[in-house]
Formats: sequence, C-alpha cells, structure tokens
Amino acid sequence: MTERPAVVTELLARSNRLGSDPRNTNYAGGNTSAKGTATDPVTGEPADLLWVKGSGGDLGTLTEDGLAVLRLDRLRALTGVYPGVEAEDEMVAAFDYCLHGLGGVVGSGPAERGAAPSIDTAMHGLVDAPHVDHLHPDSGIALAAAADGEALTQDCFGDRVRWVPWRRPGFQLGLDIAAVARDNPQAIGVILGGHGITAWGATSDECEARSLEIITTARRYLEDHGKAEPFGPFLARLKELLREKEVELIIVGMPRNMDGSYGPAAAKVQEFVAVLKENIIIPIRTWDERLTSAQANRFLIEANVRRQDRKEKVDKAAAAILLQSFLDSGAV
Ligand SMILES: [Zn+2]
Repeated sequence: MTERPAVVTELLARSNRLGSDPRNTNYAGGNTSAKGTATDPVTGEPADLLWVKGSGGDLGTLTEDGLAVLRLDRLRALTGVYPGVEAEDEMVAAFDYCLHGLGGVVGSGPAERGAAPSIDTAMHGLVDAPHVDHLHPDSGIALAAAADGEALTQDCFGDRVRWVPWRRPGFQLGLDIAAVARDNPQAIGVILGGHGITAWGATSDECEARSLEIITTARRYLEDHGKAEPFGPFLARLKELLREKEVELIIVGMPRNMDGSYGPAAAKVQEFVAVLKENIIIPIRTWDERLTSAQANRFLIEANVRRQDRKEKVDKAAAAILLQSFLDSGAV
C-alpha cells in the first residue's frame, strides 16, 4: 500500500469544503482536481498524475473512491490524436487508456478501483495549473446564462475572469479553457457560457480562494446591478418552440415534500413561473411532480438504459410522465 500523497488529502478537504455550501455548487454538480507525482510501481520512477473527481457522487462527500487517477502525459498526448468535436464520445472512452493502475488511489487493490473518468476530465488535465475547480454556483450561472453574459462578465471582473462561449462539455471545451488560461496569465478563472465556472491555482488554497472570489464577486455584482436576466437565451428558445409546436398550455412540475408541503425548491419554481408569465401569454399550470423522477428512473431501468445514459434521459422521461399524469387526471 503506497501512502496517500499530500496533494490528494488537500484535494479532498477542499472539495468537501466547497461542496458543503450550496452557494458554491448545486448538489452533485461540479468537479475538482489536483496534479502531482507518485512513484510508478512498475518502474520505481516518479509519474506525473491527475487526481480528478470521477463520475457520480457529490463534492461535499467526496472520498478517495470517488477520484479517477490518470497519467498526465498520456492524457495530454490525446491532443495529438483528437480529430475534432465529432469525436467527443470517443475521447471519453480514451480516458480509460490514460488511467494509472486501476484508476483508484495509488496502490489501491481491486476492491478500490476508483471512479470512472467523467466528461470533464479534459478540462482538468489540459489546464496547466496544478489545481482546478469546476463549479455550478447560482451566482456564476446567473452571469453564465444571461443574454449578455460576456459583457456582464467583463464588467464584473475585468480581465481577472474571462468568458468562454457555450459549448457541450467535452474535450474541445477543455482545450478552449486551457487556451484562455494560457493566453491570459493574469486570469484566475473563467465563466463558462450557459454552464458554470472554472478556476485554477498554483496551490490548493489559491484555487479554493479564487473559486470563492469568483462566486462572491458575481453575487455582489448581481446584488448591486439588479438581477441579471438568467433566462434570456432559454426564453428565446422556448418562444421559438411554442410557435413551432403551436403550444396551448404549459405544465410546470412543482416539487413538493413527501407530506405535500412546499420547500425551497418549490419557491425557485414559483419564481421561474413568475418569469414565464411575464414573458409568455400562453396559460401556465403547475402540477405536483412528486415521484415522477423516481418513476422515470424505474421506467428507464426496466427499459435497460445504461446508468450513464439514464442520468441524461431521466429529466425527459420525468417530463413525459408528469404530462401523462396531468392528462390522466382530467384537469385539462
Ligand atoms: Zn459543469
């Protein structure tokens, strides 16, 4: 059993601190990483490694088992064979060929295989800095999803935090972020259009401080400048769809506690419905969505949909079940 490198202990502590405050990232959202060296048990030589939160789980409770461990030289060598965005899915499969040992903690046995590398592995490996945080904070997302997000980011941060246009998470997004970091040595991180934030640092403490700086600065900026329009691009797309499909009624799922009472999630939905009503003349109804996600998951399991794909499809399936339950009720 090899000793756990100090850099991994720092990474787990930082991840747990960041993930335990919901203002920093939504549940199960975001991932963190650290680069360092450990002895390669095959050669006895030091190997440059990347420890990065893998697929699944939450930052607030991240443990060693939730980390994927990859050879940095191999991960970065992928830039040489990357053919372009059409190969995004193949790139995720290629991460398995970059794993160090079984992918878990150095020296771990087969019982501790570690987590599978996630689609965000590229951004962590390709950015030069030793420590990287990728988070989904409400304040950062408000800027990221605003119709004029790029201008707001410039106004809020100057050149300390740069803007990266929206792109589906994957290898190309990793290359985009790495290029911005390289071309902007003064920058501490980026706002990812329509998505979240990424920050980096030379030490774990510096990275954490920078993540918190971006989150806090964005929050203060939004407080001082009124609410950014977080639904700008979404509303435009929704209006397009409503026209295209000649929609007559919108059903919005209303989250309720199991005893039927309303919690903080319901308050967010009510806020969202209020924004919709200001912008759309089509009638909007809310409908109890208790159990629809659980039902959707069961449905997808029965349909033999793979765990990885289920996460993506469960929202769609839940929406279909919600609509069906509304129609079945005869409330229409
Ligand atoms: Zn993300």
